[in-house]
Amino acid sequence: MARIDLQGVARTYDDFALQPTTLSLPDRSFTVLLGPSGSGKSTLLRLVAGLERPDAGRILLNGRDVTEAPAEARGVGLVFQEGALFPHLDVAANVAFGLRVRGEPARERVEELLRLVGLEGFGKRRVARLSGGERQRVALARALAPRPAVVLYDEPLASLDRALREDLREALRRIHDEAGLTSVLVTHDRDEALALADRLVLMREGAVVEEGEPRALFRGPRTAFTARFLGAANVVDGWLVPPDAVRVEADPQGDARVVARRFAGFHEEARVRLASGQEIDARGPVGSFPAPGSPCRVAWDLARAKRLSA
Ligand code: ADP
Ligand code: MG
Repeated sequence: MARIDLQGVARTYDDFALQPTTLSLPDRSFTVLLGPSGSGKSTLLRLVAGLERPDAGRILLNGRDVTEAPAEARGVGLVFQEGALFPHLDVAANVAFGLRVRGEPARERVEELLRLVGLEGFGKRRVARLSGGERQRVALARALAPRPAVVLYDEPLASLDRALREDLREALRRIHDEAGLTSVLVTHDRDEALALADRLVLMREGAVVEEGEPRALFRGPRTAFTARFLGAANVVDGWLVPPDAVRVEADPQGDARVVARRFAGFHEEARVRLASGQEIDARGPVGSFPAPGSPCRVAWDLARAKRLSA
């Protein structure tokens, strides 16, 4: 069991304030903290980890108040953007580190973990010789070694190239499910967030803007910020218009103009400049959009547009 409750947790720095934040992260949930750089994601994660103390509020792990407990006492695994491995130790010794510290037998556990992260047989390699993706896998195995119920990730895939990122993303989700973890991951990458999260917590300027199940947030964003950040809808005159509800027709008399068109395999995307000068995104079957530069008329399906409440 590993449920995390934040009750009015706040932290102020000289130039930044994490607003009082209340969140309940259920046992075995995968929560993603998503937001632009500087929105306070890492601050919130460090508070949960115990690397930082809040100025106000309480943090509970399974109902136990850990607000003042040091990081080591929380039983939480941590994985950061750069694995911060011990370069002079081999892979096995890195993974075993947390076990040795506690005097626990390591050998079988290390082999099991290396299998879990797809690095079977890598035990004797020097970490200095590993690729970025392999290093992150080692960092993950090391964090999991002491069998934490909670694992916290801060942009663990940000330094990897795209193919590797998607690969490791799947590994993270699989390990989460298989080990029955409660995971919290920080990212500014919306694709990663949508792919991984059971619960998405969207942050902006030190505050939670919206939270919920990713599909629900994507389909029914309540704020213009959520709509834009998730790429879920255009915001036009106080309406939220999803790109796939936008129709674009070539028309020499039209007052709009296609400014870009992108073929994306199974579908096509276009960016269109309206008469007002605003640019919006459209998405449709291949062949839906006139060539860039074409004058056009734009319409959208009103039944699919939503009034912005705020
Ligand atoms: P994110 O992870 O969303 O990019 P952070 O939580 O790292 O954002 O940082 C939010 C803001 O708090 C930033 O403006 C950052 O400069 C500031 N900040 C973070 N840690 C500290 C600190 N230890 N001292 C002072 N300012 C900090
Ligand atoms: Mg950060």
